[in-house]
Amino acid sequence: MSERSQRIWAYIGVLSGCFVIATLAGWTPLAARIDHYAYDLITVMTPAAHHAEDSVVVAIDEETLRQRGGMRKIRTILTETLEQISAAQPKAVAVDVILADQGAGATDEAEDARLEAALRDTKNLILSCDLVPSGWEDPLPRFASAAAAIGHAHSEVDRLDGVSRALSLEETTAHQRRWALALEAFRIARGQPITESPEDLQVGETIIPAPRGASGRPMLIRYLPTGIPTVSAIHIAENSLAMKDKTVFLGVTALSAARDRLLNPYGVNIAGVEVHAHAFETMVHGNFLGSAGNLSPLGLSILFTIAVGLAFAFLSGWMAYAAALAIIVAAMTAPIYFFRQGLVFPLFGPAFAAWLSSAGAATYQHFFVRRQLRRSESEKSRYQQAIHWAAHEMRTPLTAIQGSSEIMTNYSLPEAKQKQLSEMINSESKRLARLIQTFLDVERLAEGHMELKREVFPAVDVVNTCLQRVEPLAVRKKIGISLDTPVEGALTGDRELMEYAFYNLLTNAVKYSPADTHVSVTADTSGGELRLAVRDQGIGMDAKELKNIFRKFYRTQRAEQSGEIGTGIGLSIVEQIVTHHGGRMEVSSEPGKGSCFTMILKVKIQRNIVAETIDR
Ligand code: ADP
Repeated sequence: MSERSQRIWAYIGVLSGCFVIATLAGWTPLAARIDHYAYDLITVMTPAAHHAEDSVVVAIDEETLRQRGGMRKIRTILTETLEQISAAQPKAVAVDVILADQGAGATDEAEDARLEAALRDTKNLILSCDLVPSGWEDPLPRFASAAAAIGHAHSEVDRLDGVSRALSLEETTAHQRRWALALEAFRIARGQPITESPEDLQVGETIIPAPRGASGRPMLIRYLPTGIPTVSAIHIAENSLAMKDKTVFLGVTALSAARDRLLNPYGVNIAGVEVHAHAFETMVHGNFLGSAGNLSPLGLSILFTIAVGLAFAFLSGWMAYAAALAIIVAAMTAPIYFFRQGLVFPLFGPAFAAWLSSAGAATYQHFFVRRQLRRSESEKSRYQQAIHWAAHEMRTPLTAIQGSSEIMTNYSLPEAKQKQLSEMINSESKRLARLIQTFLDVERLAEGHMELKREVFPAVDVVNTCLQRVEPLAVRKKIGISLDTPVEGALTGDRELMEYAFYNLLTNAVKYSPADTHVSVTADTSGGELRLAVRDQGIGMDAKELKNIFRKFYRTQRAEQSGEIGTGIGLSIVEQIVTHHGGRMEVSSEPGKGSCFTMILKVKIQRNIVAETIDR
């Protein structure tokens, strides 16, 4: 895999990781809480359009209870209230008081008989039942028979924060199903039957999106910010006009007595009967909110993650950050937009995906840029070093060429001498050309661009060529050089580079040895490896120096004191060449006693090899 595609995959990996973490986090209770807060906030920011209400709440409030004898007298209160409500001619009356208890004694019987009569006189009456562990708690049959419908008065609150946001339009227990009080009231007010499908319920023209799920058929309630018009049970007479042709929701709102008091998204404390009235209004005005489900938010998270990824991949600096910020803002405001379109989207998952992938992408790009900077710096210094080395190495042949040509122009020389000098110019310029080639090869090797030549050539040829080349240098220093063992096998790779490496070891051995010493070359072929060793009796190195000699520009103090001027770069190139050929270097040395440099290379045992180039 190329470095570029590796980088792209790593980047995709980082972004995918961010997406997965954000998605998993989106399923935690904390995320659910945050989504609820966001929902409430958006509800407050986007109130349902104001319509004339179709319902009135008749509240059995604190004042009613105080004046009429408290909850003990609830049936009497109900009877009197219902009688007054009927007189006001409402369209329907939904009673959120459970009438399941059997009365005891003569007084109770008289009270119940009166209530029964009042119920029978009430047109379009809906009574309520409640969920209890054993099943449905229904009104007594004598009351139930007076009702046009019985709806459940159960109002669900969120398990995490106790806020009422939805009403389950359908509840089933002990194989008995009940529609919600609000829905029954709506059906009766409309005078139409309920048609159901797994996805929604239909009453007349109104299609209510309430897909059946594990918790019944939840319908999100669009609470009216101003509340439902409410009349106290003791003030019906003055307000009877307000009730005409309206659907009346009659229930207990007194804090001390209401069975259920809940918080709505506006943070307002309301009674169960009011929850049903709000749900009724939601249905009447078709103010429905659909849930986005699971897949669309996931799709949105993917979209935001990809957008952030592209921003950081194609934009740089502040532009990338600005784009990421815009995406985060979009992710945070998307639920508001969808809410206005009637869809409830979670905030947390997609917004967190946008946040996290921005952080991930920014961090990744930051480190990537830093790494690139470091690399280009090190490349620069490496290049400078290489130039330094080339300049140094070229100086010797150039001096020879310059000197010879000057002599030839300034003096008239005998023909033999002229020939000798021009041969020298020729051979030195060839050396120069070789050097330039080596320099270019080493450069490309270091950059990793070079495909090594794959020649097969006898190892002995390399050894002999280098020995011949170093001979004059050794003679000048009165140093003897010997090849002590036969060299066997064929090497595969770049002959030019290999010669450069071995020649370097030989010249070092000569350079860092005093006169009248000996350099011995040995070769040992075993286990598919050729160990080519150059052993001298020179100045040697201690353990600390040994550790550093392959570093560029490193020179030992000892070498400097010996008067040899080097660049300290030769060995680093030797090592590069050897490792690029799949080999390695070994060095042993002792100060004042000499060193032994060994090149260990892969070798093929074949005799009489003719150098050939393998086409790859
Ligand atoms: P140069 O010889 O141009 O300085 P090298 O990279 O070939 O560069 O060698 C690095 C250093 O390693 C030398 O400067 C010298 O200090 C030490 N060195 C190399 N070969 C020998 C040797 N045969 N004996 C002792 N020291 C050596």
